[in-house]
Amino acid sequence: MIPFLDLKQINLRHESEIKSSIDRFLQSGWYILGKEVEQFEQEFAEYCGTRYCLGVANGLDALVLILKGLGISEGDEVIVPSNTYIATILSITASGATPILVEPDLLTYNIDPALIEKYITTKTKAIMVVHLYGLSCDMSPIQEIAQKYNLKVVEDCAQAHGAMYKGKRVGNLSDAAAFSFYPGKNLGALGDGGAITLNDESMYLELKAIRNYGSHKKYENLYKGINSRLDELQAAVLRFKLKHLDEDNQLRRNIAELYNEKIKNESLVKPVFKGLDPETHVWHLYVIRTRNRNHLQRYLNDNNIQTLIHYPIPPHKQEAYKEWNDRGYPISESIHAEILSLPISPVMSIEDAVKVTEVLNEYKEII
Ligand SMILES: *Cc1c(COP(=O)(O)O)cnc(C)c1O
Repeated sequence: MIPFLDLKQINLRHESEIKSSIDRFLQSGWYILGKEVEQFEQEFAEYCGTRYCLGVANGLDALVLILKGLGISEGDEVIVPSNTYIATILSITASGATPILVEPDLLTYNIDPALIEKYITTKTKAIMVVHLYGLSCDMSPIQEIAQKYNLKVVEDCAQAHGAMYKGKRVGNLSDAAAFSFYPGKNLGALGDGGAITLNDESMYLELKAIRNYGSHKKYENLYKGINSRLDELQAAVLRFKLKHLDEDNQLRRNIAELYNEKIKNESLVKPVFKGLDPETHVWHLYVIRTRNRNHLQRYLNDNNIQTLIHYPIPPHKQEAYKEWNDRGYPISESIHAEILSLPISPVMSIEDAVKVTEVLNEYKEII
């Protein structure tokens, strides 16, 4: 079987270096908010080009903390893409604000900037964009709209570590950005982890306290905070893995380029490639579309190729958001019905990728 993602191999490639990072942590005898987190925050901020980074417990918390830092709460509206991973939307409802879902562009799968303006009301406080599947959103028109209406911009970078837009990294294209280091992400820890990147000093200082019980100084509490910290152990591992992020993203890009070049089946829609600046995409996922998706998935499985669906149910069709179940988001719905994610990772061999393209080119669609 060609696996969708061999996570074990991704980490075992660097077994001895990861073990020595863990050993350094163990020998330090310091477990929470120590030198590893501090160093990682500096290194990740430098990598993204921002002034500050804060390590937190996971990507969802990073988004929740950002909304808190921006003062967004009940009565406010936040514009967000209708096709995203559920955590993006959960962060907005957790803050008490109302998510305003906006349909994506069918070519990029990212929020369609041309649709945003008509959803802005007097209650709108922010636009939360998601660089879905690893492709940076087209940020210039979004930043222009935000400026025109005095809105904050938040990036969900959980799938796009290292992607660039017009010479800047994602994470540095907004008021604040959230990253996840869930093991399967492009920069993955050995467990949960997350980060916030930002440039504003006062928001940085506030969120730094809020993630730690609202305390800036031991046993003194400025805010009604929470406990959401990146572990020293995970930070030690992430510091090592960050050094390999660009290289890993390039390995993903090589697979994507090969798929793009060699997949020639008319019944499959490939992701945008033409005219794309290669740096804007870090290929967290390589997602194709086809009319009979379940048939294609079975066919690939029968040919020993594992695929996944990101995601099978759009947020507005989830039980958790049953108040939205009757609304129509036709573009999102057709995306969710037709997409399939092909195997891609920094440890996938070129031979396996070629094999995937050969099997796909022999696929005969049945409607
Ligand atoms: C993974 C992911 C998250 C959530 O990150 P966690 O660390 O799992 O909480 C948020 N948004 C998107 C787009 C994601 O892919």
